[in-house]
Amino acid sequence: MISKSQIDEVLSGFDKNKIKIATICSHSALQIFHGAKKEGFKTIGICTESRKETYDSFPLAKPDEYFIVKNFKDVLEKKLQDRLIENNVIIIPHGSFVEYVGPENLEERFLVPMFGNRKTLKWEGERKMQREWLEKADLRLPKQYKTVSEAGGKVFVKLSGAKGGRGFFTTDSEEDLKKKLKEKVKKGIISEADSSNITIQEFVLGVRYYVHYFYSPLENRTEMLSMDKRIEPIDESYRGLPNIPDEFLDYTVTGNQPIIIRESLLPEVIKMGINTVNASLKLFYPGMIGPFCLETIYHPENGFTVFEVSARIVAGTNLYPDGSPYSTYLFEEPMSTGRRIAREIKIGIKRNEIEKIIF
Ligand code: AMP
Repeated sequence: MISKSQIDEVLSGFDKNKIKIATICSHSALQIFHGAKKEGFKTIGICTESRKETYDSFPLAKPDEYFIVKNFKDVLEKKLQDRLIENNVIIIPHGSFVEYVGPENLEERFLVPMFGNRKTLKWEGERKMQREWLEKADLRLPKQYKTVSEAGGKVFVKLSGAKGGRGFFTTDSEEDLKKKLKEKVKKGIISEADSSNITIQEFVLGVRYYVHYFYSPLENRTEMLSMDKRIEPIDESYRGLPNIPDEFLDYTVTGNQPIIIRESLLPEVIKMGINTVNASLKLFYPGMIGPFCLETIYHPENGFTVFEVSARIVAGTNLYPDGSPYSTYLFEEPMSTGRRIAREIKIGIKRNEIEKIIF
């Protein structure tokens, strides 16, 4: 694992007045560049030739400079890492960044300073560790079962080899479970090996809220910046009534909708964020730094159930490049999550405390 002292050494060679912000051109890169520019940073987009046109078509959010790669994984090449370091680059990791480059590679081979605590990658990425973290935060989690029969009713099945909810399904019998897993392998959604590596959870009823938080170690504050609701084909399944075709029963994330929550539920929402940060400080100091998202389902009878934490900027924040109905009460100026990241870096540079947020 690349140690904090290695990163500090790289960072000590940086010209702090010329720090540039960079990320891979995907996921929430437009928002990250836009926010960084607003805070006065120069930006670099690590981009493939074919995607450049897309970013160029948004002049206020395109990066100031492109580093063109054939493949996003090329950021691991020594030559490119050296070039990023020569440019005083701080990388902002987003969902696709971690996905394309691989969490192990980021931990073992990537020497370019990144915003946030690298240890978080493991605590988010491994299901068991993530559960330990959320349990420590005293959050209600979906019950987990070894078998469908143990649950004695409808369960939610998660596949380890599938991404973004693709292929997830519900079932209420062992027989049906086997049949559906076989189908997924046949369709190539998962591999044979993945089909024995599944998680069987309580099927949680209620309304979904994906809450976007930001923990600032420099201000010692957990901020609730915005929230969204993901859209999945299943949300439209009523259109197939009365005989819903199987294709509608699909949980793949395809987009995001803005949402706000009843004000009387806000104390609970804010408490969940603070608890998540406090648990992270105990488990992997200095804990969760920067943006994270709690994926929740609320039901008036059961309260909030948290089925996932994303420990980085999530794509749902793309709804709010000019701030949200909540960030308006936190900042005088329009504040997206992308801009909030750049603001934290700016504060770190100004106070000479940048090492506290870069790993
Ligand atoms: P995830 O990949 O964990 O974000 O899950 C993808 C989608 O599956 C979510 O956005 C929810 O719509 C749904 N989901 C996940 N876990 C559960 C659960 N335990 N009960 C009901 N729905 C769930």
